[in-house]
Amino acid sequence: MKTGEWPMWYSIYVEPRIRELESKATSNAMSMLRGPWYVTCDKCGTRLRVELPAEGIESLLRTGNVMIECANPNCRHKIEIHLRDLIKGYLGHPSQVFWV
Ligand SMILES: [Zn+2]
Repeated sequence: MKTGEWPMWYSIYVEPRIRELESKATSNAMSMLRGPWYVTCDKCGTRLRVELPAEGIESLLRTGNVMIECANPNCRHKIEIHLRDLIKGYLGHPSQVFWV
C-alpha cells in the first residue's frame, strides 16, 4: 500500500465499522438503561419491575439518578435509583438493582 492510499482505505473500510460499533454501543446502553430491570422497595420490600420511559433515561444520563414510585398502593414510597446501582447490578455486583 502506498502512503497516499492509507487515508482513503481507512475512510472506506475502517471508519464505517467504527461508526457502526459506536451506534451499537449507544443503542445497547440505551436498552440496558431502559430495562426491564428490578428493584426492591427499601420501605416495604415489594419487588418492582421497571421499564423506563425516555424521560427516565434522560434523567439518569443527565443527573445520574431517577425516581421510581413503589407500586404497592399502601406504600407509594419514592425510590431513588442511581446510575451506578444500575451499572453495578448489570455487571453482577451487589446492588439494589438486578436483572433477573
Ligand atoms: Zn414500597
